[in-house]
Amino acid sequence: MANNETPAPQGKSLLDLVGISKTFRRSGSVIEAVKSVNLNVNDGETVALVGESGSGKSTLGRIALCLLCPDQGKVFLKGECLSELSPRRLRDARIAMQPIFQDPTASFNPRRPVHELMGQALRRFPVPERNDRAVKLLGDVGLHPGQIFLNRFPHELSGGQRQRLAIARALAMDPILIIADEPLSGADVSIRGQILNLLLDLQRERGVALLMITHDISIARAFAHRVAVMMNGEIVERGIAQEVLTTPRHPYTQRLLSAVPSLA
Ligand code: ADP
Ligand code: MG
Repeated sequence: MANNETPAPQGKSLLDLVGISKTFRRSGSVIEAVKSVNLNVNDGETVALVGESGSGKSTLGRIALCLLCPDQGKVFLKGECLSELSPRRLRDARIAMQPIFQDPTASFNPRRPVHELMGQALRRFPVPERNDRAVKLLGDVGLHPGQIFLNRFPHELSGGQRQRLAIARALAMDPILIIADEPLSGADVSIRGQILNLLLDLQRERGVALLMITHDISIARAFAHRVAVMMNGEIVERGIAQEVLTTPRHPYTQRLLSAVPSLA
């Protein structure tokens, strides 16, 4: 019953996923993508959800973000069950949890330049303040918020710049939790470290909680307070990052770690 050990303290954390299951049916076959998973993220905490491709990580992340309905189980944000919220409160909850995906292009309107993309995320502020905030946020994520850059369209940016812009837009919503699903996988190897450090700095400085979904267990070392290891839809090991990464108990975790020479 490894999957059910240390059950999430329902309603006590920032994010509580309780008894989540999700099955897909595709061309006659049934895929149990997520099987009775419990997972929690505390205030200001970084949790890495790691596992090989196909283990169910993105499905769980999409359920947490309310982009997908679970077949069973509940999602709590600050103790409130998302499926029981009014549409207005649900909208607020979705703003409080900002996603960052592998390919940021999909979340940008390609016909809008950078200043409009930022302005849209900051539209709750009056125009002068909106502009100031956009410039500040772009600077915070290491983009140069000069006029030339502000007038660029997403396809005119490098992959790394696009991911930084996606992070700036997520921060513009003032989230309490960022759910980042393989945010480094779409970026060039040369800038993955920069994006990772950026997320780490922002998490530390702003105290935003972070659920980092990754197939790369070595990222957990740089990042996470806690790690949950997912295999075939189940969490097979979880704990303090340092402990899981130095003395893994489950053979699957050991196998993931042995594939990372510097951690072995
Ligand atoms: P991971 O993010 O760990 O790679 P996913 O959550 O994307 O894993 O996928 C888990 C399993 O569910 C895989 O077998 C995948 O093919 C399947 N799956 C995910 N989304 C769908 C979908 N929309 N329709 C059918 N099968 C899906
Ligand atoms: Mg995935």
